[in-house]
Amino acid sequence: MNDFQRNSVPEISVAIPVFNEAENLRPLVGRLTPALERCCASFEVIFIDDGSSDATLEILRELHASDQRLTALSFSRNFGKEIAIAAGLDFARGRAAIVMDADLQHPPELIPAFVSKWREGYKNIYGQRTDRAADPKLRGVLTQIYYDLLDQFGETSLPREAGDFRLLDRQAIDALAKMRERARFSKGLYAWIGFKSIGVPFEVERRAAGASKFNWAKLARFALDGFMSFSYVPLKIWTFIGMAISGFALAMAAYFFIRTLLFGADVPGYPSLIVSIAFFAGVQLISLGVLGEYIARIFAEVKGRPLYLVAERLGIEDEEEKPEHGPAGRNVTRR
Ligand code: UDP
Ligand code: MG
Repeated sequence: MNDFQRNSVPEISVAIPVFNEAENLRPLVGRLTPALERCCASFEVIFIDDGSSDATLEILRELHASDQRLTALSFSRNFGKEIAIAAGLDFARGRAAIVMDADLQHPPELIPAFVSKWREGYKNIYGQRTDRAADPKLRGVLTQIYYDLLDQFGETSLPREAGDFRLLDRQAIDALAKMRERARFSKGLYAWIGFKSIGVPFEVERRAAGASKFNWAKLARFALDGFMSFSYVPLKIWTFIGMAISGFALAMAAYFFIRTLLFGADVPGYPSLIVSIAFFAGVQLISLGVLGEYIARIFAEVKGRPLYLVAERLGIEDEEEKPEHGPAGRNVTRR
């Protein structure tokens, strides 16, 4: 690689979060590099090694040695895919950035279509999955219900079947870089920033090797993050539930008052008493739990810890260190 290439800003950056994807890296690069060479004047690929414990990092070193355009960051531990994407975008220098998975579920051959949409003037281009056949059945159904709910109650409307496979213009990258929230729900953030958007349909392939890195617990956490970050319904609903229950209690009080006046007091009523005590104790605990979820998130944000820590860089220079807070320093200083 010559000096001209090293110092110039690449046209396209590709950010790829990787967590134990050793078997997938070479097949991925084998398809990615030709696709990028076909459509872009110059490019850089940034792999974000999200604390892998397999041979991922060694393979990234070998890949970087053989092709300087393939660079990598290695996190000090597993910070999660959403944070890895944020880091990739922080360090992306291109005039546009592509975000994709490493498991070949996002076909690199779609990239030229993204790039041509970008040249037409779109700034937020997403791959739109035409089916969920590659996902387990139950996960597909639950995902559908979840997005219906989020659509109904969320503050930001999310485009349907839009995933993490995208191209973002520099303006969109800089906008995302300003959002340093820890509980990241990228799909929501991509929709929140707006800009001229369009979907490009594609068929999701099956994962090339290995299993999904998301188990049910991780998915549930992610779903909760999304709902809590993009909807206020869990907080606001308690006002209405409280009002309904109080109204009901007042009506009940009136009823008992009149009944006692007319017929005198009677002792029975144990079952209704115990049921209502248990029910309202449950309601109160649930609403406290919801408050707890939000307070935990507020606490996590207020602590102001860095989003991630980088343990090693390959082809990403030291002076380009990103400040741990605030907007992306690298992009600002280099351009
Ligand atoms: N990934 C990551 N950190 C994690 C989990 C996943 O960087 O903690 C990466 C993973 O290596 C892959 C992408 O995120 O490149 C998507 O993960 P996966 O294919 O397991 O998710 P799914 O396709 O099942 O949603
Ligand atoms: Mg996958």
